[in-house]
Amino acid sequence: MGKKALIVVDMQNDFADPKGALYVKGGEKLIKKIENLIKNGPYDLIVVTRDWHPKNHCSFKENGGQWPKHCVQYSWGAEFAIKIDTNKIVVDIVKGDNPDRDDYSGFNGHAYRFSAKLKYILREYGITSVDVVGLALDYCVKATAIDAVKSGFKTRVLLKYTKAVNLKPGDEQRAIEEIKKNGVKIK
Ligand SMILES: [Zn+2]
Repeated sequence: MGKKALIVVDMQNDFADPKGALYVKGGEKLIKKIENLIKNGPYDLIVVTRDWHPKNHCSFKENGGQWPKHCVQYSWGAEFAIKIDTNKIVVDIVKGDNPDRDDYSGFNGHAYRFSAKLKYILREYGITSVDVVGLALDYCVKATAIDAVKSGFKTRVLLKYTKAVNLKPGDEQRAIEEIKKNGVKIK
């Protein structure tokens, strides 16, 4: 039987804390639930992704992008909002560290301080299925889940463990439809 990984997307202060620069409504309510899932869920491996932007990142409004300045490397906003308390192997993936490119998907990131890509790390550990949770459903969770299924992993998004930005009304429902259309299960 294949092994199973939990992918926790961007549970960082800027997204999950009401004081964060890009706070996702209800994000703080996920903290305890996701901590509990990491500790007690039926997973062989835990992946945590982080938005990890240099100050001159292209996604920031001041540099011509669409978002307020957020998750700047080594700042409070980029720190994890969750405690990662587990005896399992934890893979720490950073994304968005190239100033000229934005990456919503953890599969476009790489291991912190290494160049290894998530797809190959998961294969190396014998992972065949993944559950994706975290922030935000209509951006990085969606992109990560779709890339997971395209990379050959059986993939689910656990709706109780994610929240949407809903920049436009209905974004959440549209994201769910797009996720399903790509072959990801919604649970
Ligand atoms: Zn970002």
